[in-house]
Amino acid sequence: MPDSAYRVARRVARELSQDLLLTTPFNVDEVAQRHAVLVEEELPGRTDSLTLHAPVPGDPPRIVIQRSLSATPDRRRFAVAHALGHVLLGWHPLGVPCDVSSRPRELPVTGHDLVEGEANAFARELLLPRAWLEGFDALERPAELIRHAAGRSGVPVMPAARAVALLLPPGFVWVVTDEWGAVLDAGRSPGTQVCAPAAGTAFDGRDYARLAAERHRADLEGSSLLVWRFDQDSVEELPHDHTARQVAADIAADLALDADELAARIDGAAGWANEQLGSSSLAGMTAALTERVQAMADLTAVTGHARFGDLVDAKAVELVAKRLAR
Ligand SMILES: [Zn+2]
Repeated sequence: MPDSAYRVARRVARELSQDLLLTTPFNVDEVAQRHAVLVEEELPGRTDSLTLHAPVPGDPPRIVIQRSLSATPDRRRFAVAHALGHVLLGWHPLGVPCDVSSRPRELPVTGHDLVEGEANAFARELLLPRAWLEGFDALERPAELIRHAAGRSGVPVMPAARAVALLLPPGFVWVVTDEWGAVLDAGRSPGTQVCAPAAGTAFDGRDYARLAAERHRADLEGSSLLVWRFDQDSVEELPHDHTARQVAADIAADLALDADELAARIDGAAGWANEQLGSSSLAGMTAALTERVQAMADLTAVTGHARFGDLVDAKAVELVAKRLAR
């Protein structure tokens, strides 16, 4: 049940907002300049921003913003807030180029994803505060709310969709498509089992539309935003997450093992791996779990099963989601 909650990053944004009595929309450059030297330069490639240590220790860090972003003020605004996140979340390594247009991963696969996810979550909470979104009292019209919140706060529609989705109950999937129907970005509310389609793919949304219990739509400039809600009984018919428990039951059935016992063994290994070696990235957690289960001599049939990888992946997703939700 992925939930990229990034609570610490969001709390830091909320505290900054309260300290400065910010009301949406505010001048984000002025806020960033309280903590960093903000400059515009031509940066190579698809870089939106680069946050750097001061040349002289003790001086404030530098935020370099891609000069050409002045043509897309909403993306520039998000890039400044994202870079400020790197400055204020003191454990972030500086000097790494950022591309805020890339679709964030639902859960961080690598340490780099984790840092980028936190900076994005910081930027979303700063620019689209949860309390501000709730104040519209419009969660029953999510597509309209996302479109309106993006316009009012001056950010692209994708971060607005992510911010609103975090407030929705389980079961919601949102998709932004271009005018030819290709997926630009997609996501879901916490606890949703139905998978969001992958960005960059041609997307046939007919099954989603047919099975949805609610359908919402907002037309944007050159793109469309679709929001669907699914009841639990339509989950099986659409691409959906498999819980570690379900995969363990499938493997146990194949190997004539007791499903509950296997699930309990995997839970035990997961608890140990999480305590001893755990990490908040999927790659780190997957490696820790694999190592732990492979060390259990009586589970060699399980580790040799074709779906052992699926089992470890599903468990790693559950553990990382839990860590990020803390
Ligand atoms: Zn970044």
